Amino acid sequence: MTAVWQINEARFKENVKRVKDNQSIMAVVKNNAYNYGLDFAINTFKEMGIDTFSTTSLHEAIAIRKIDADATIFLMNATDEFELLRTYDIHMTLPSLAFYEQYKEALFDVKVHLEYENLLHRSGFKTIDEMIQVIEDHRQTHSPKMTITGLWTHFGYADEFDVTMYQQERDAWFNVVDVLVNKMDMSFDLIHAQNSASYFREGHVFEHHTHARIGIALYGSRPYASLSREAFPQALTVSANVIQVRQVQQGDHCGYSFAYTAEENNTRLAVVDIGYGDGILRTRAQHEVMINQRIYPIRALMMSHMFVEVDEHVQAKDKVILYNEDLRIDDYTFKGVGANSEQLSALNLDSLIKEYR
Ligand SMILES: *Cc1c(COP(=O)(O)O)cnc(C)c1O
Repeated sequence: MTAVWQINEARFKENVKRVKDNQSIMAVVKNNAYNYGLDFAINTFKEMGIDTFSTTSLHEAIAIRKIDADATIFLMNATDEFELLRTYDIHMTLPSLAFYEQYKEALFDVKVHLEYENLLHRSGFKTIDEMIQVIEDHRQTHSPKMTITGLWTHFGYADEFDVTMYQQERDAWFNVVDVLVNKMDMSFDLIHAQNSASYFREGHVFEHHTHARIGIALYGSRPYASLSREAFPQALTVSANVIQVRQVQQGDHCGYSFAYTAEENNTRLAVVDIGYGDGILRTRAQHEVMINQRIYPIRALMMSHMFVEVDEHVQAKDKVILYNEDLRIDDYTFKGVGANSEQLSALNLDSLIKEYR
């Protein structure tokens, strides 16, 4: 018996359909599609009518091209491997004025999206003036030269409701779009800004934008807690097995270095075949599992095992659920276990058996 990572394809598709809602979505597929699997994700999104993808690594961008010859592919981190971008027809961010100045000539025929920095401060042009400087220089430059195909930003606060940061970054961004499109008379094939949280709190793709750039919601986790669970069916189940059930007595220390001390006599501990080596976060192990539809507390976490305190209803070979449609990734996020994407990307697909069904 081995622990299993399983995707219910029908549920996955049902979720994609609800999230897409006939709007224009650029699917974020970074980090192996949030660990749902790049091939599976691209093929499924394609089937559901999404033809535009973005990721952070050139390696993954090329992998997407090999899966889908017709897709529009956007690389969110800059690279200087311009020949590969041209060969595989990959759009790339233009992350700063300094980058443009350094690589202006080498960038010929590369499709770039001007990036506005905003409050996240991870990448992008600092000011509209810097962007205008590039646009004016580009207008005066003869071909061969880069092609400006897009305009974008990324919000750092779209899931924050108690502070005004989101309004600030949104207003600053709208101003950038207005100045470049209306005053500079630029036209862009792609304009995109919204992550999952921004898309759902606005209820639609921003006006004048071509896409919302959505990750986590497409994978069935809510970006913030006030959204309804029913609207985001979780397709992922992670399950393990009871290897044996052992009885311990009050004061017995169990696990490495006093990890857990039994509080009562005849405490029943199930030894389960999954641990942090399989990607179960230590914070997740402060919560519960489900065995035969009942909830039991995790008592100790080891590399390939965990102890779960059980009762007489549990026996060897019983199935132990870590995540499913009831034990949701996003509920654990809101309990402080770690971001949705953090829990998902921790899961070790080399040690877990992977099943799509
Ligand atoms: C990860 C990422 C997204 C997607 O964010 P979600 O919250 O998962 O929807 C969008 N844009 C950028 C730049 C990202 O890095």
